[in-house]
Amino acid sequence: MRTYLDWNATTPPHREVVEAVSRAMLEAWGNSSSLHEEGRVARDLAQGARQALAGWTRTRAIEWILTSGGTESIHAAIHGCVAARPGKRRIVTSAGEHSSTIGVLAGLEHQGFEIVRIPTREDGTWDDEAAIVACDPQVTALASLIWANNETGAVSGAGTVASVLRERKVPLHLDAVQCFGKIEVDLSRVPAGFVSMSAHKFQGPKGIGALFVRQGTPWSRWIQGGNQERSRRGGTVNVPGAAGLARAVGLASDRGSMDPRVRDELERRLVEAVPGLFVVAHRAERLPNTSCVVIPGCDSSTLLDRLDARGFAVSSGSACTTGSAEPSHVLLAMGLRPEEAHAAIRISLGPDPDPSGLDRFTAAIREEAASVRSLSNPSTLSE
Ligand code: PLP
Repeated sequence: MRTYLDWNATTPPHREVVEAVSRAMLEAWGNSSSLHEEGRVARDLAQGARQALAGWTRTRAIEWILTSGGTESIHAAIHGCVAARPGKRRIVTSAGEHSSTIGVLAGLEHQGFEIVRIPTREDGTWDDEAAIVACDPQVTALASLIWANNETGAVSGAGTVASVLRERKVPLHLDAVQCFGKIEVDLSRVPAGFVSMSAHKFQGPKGIGALFVRQGTPWSRWIQGGNQERSRRGGTVNVPGAAGLARAVGLASDRGSMDPRVRDELERRLVEAVPGLFVVAHRAERLPNTSCVVIPGCDSSTLLDRLDARGFAVSSGSACTTGSAEPSHVLLAMGLRPEEAHAAIRISLGPDPDPSGLDRFTAAIREEAASVRSLSNPSTLSE
C-alpha cells in the first residue's frame, strides 16, 4: 500500500476529471476553431474552462488564455510583456523562483536585460518593499514573482505589491501555480496583470493550464501561428484537457481552501519523533498542505529512497530539481547552510489525507532517519 505525500509535484487526477476528459475525447473531439457543429461543441467546452476560472478568481473569461501548463504560461507572460514594452530593460524577480521562471530570465539576461533579484527573507517570503523599490517605472518592463513557494509553501504578500505596481503602471506577473486549490486566489483583491496556473496541481489533467492577462495590461502573444484563443496563442486547443480543467476547478472551488490542521499535527509529531528536526518557513503564512523539514545530519536523497522503498512518496525539494546534486537555491536564499539544504525533505498533502498513512509515515521516518544518520556518523548517532 502506497502513501503519496508529494502533491506539490503533481496530484492524482480526480475520478470525475478523468470522466470529463474521456467524455470530451469521445464526444467533443472537434477542432474548437471550426465553424461547424463539431467545432461548436468543442468550443463550448473550452469556453466552460475559461468561465470556470473566471468565476473562481473573480475575473472575466476573456482574460484567461488556455495553455499547456504552468511553464508555458510563465514563458508567455514574461516574453509577451517584454515584447510589448520595448525600451524597458529591467525585470524584477525574487531569489526563490521556480526553475521555469529562472530559465526564462536567464535567457533574457543573456540578451542584455537587467535582472534584479530581490532577496528572500528568513521566513521564505520575498521582500515586498525591496520589490517595490526595484520597480522603477522608467526602466522596468515587469516584475515576475512566485506567490506561493513550491518547496517551502511560504506565501508572500502579493496584494500590496500588486496594488502599488498597478498604480505605477509596472505589470506584475504572479506564478500562482501552487496556490490554486490550496488557498484563495481572488484576483479582484490582488490586481496583478498576469497570473500563471496549471491544472495538474489540483487533480486536473497534465498538459493544460492557463494564463490570466488582465484587460489593459501591455502584452503580445508569445506563441505565433494560428488565431486560436482570440489570436493570443497559436495551436489547436486541448479541449479534453480544458474539460478536465473545468471539472477540477469545480471540485476545488466546492471544497474551498485546504485546512492546515492535519499538516500542523503531522509537523508536531515529526518534531517529537525525530531529534533535531525543524520545520522550514514555519513563521511565514504557508500553503496549508506543505511542510518542508530539515533533519540535520540525514542525507535527504538516501532518506527519500528508503521511504520510497517502504511505500512513501515525498520529495527533496521541487520535482524539477530531483536528480540534481546542487542544494536547493530556495533554501539557500533563506539563509540555510548547504548541508541543511541537503537534509531537507518536502511533504505535501492532498485535501483528504489518510490518518493511518500519516501514522505509518511518522514511524517510518523516525526509523529511517536514525538509520541514515548512523551511516554518516556511526559513533554519535545510534538512536
Ligand atoms: N511554478 C511553480 C511554482 C511550480 O511548482 C511548477 C511545477 O512544479 C511550475 C511553475 C510549472 O508548472 P507545470 O508543471 O504545469 O509546467
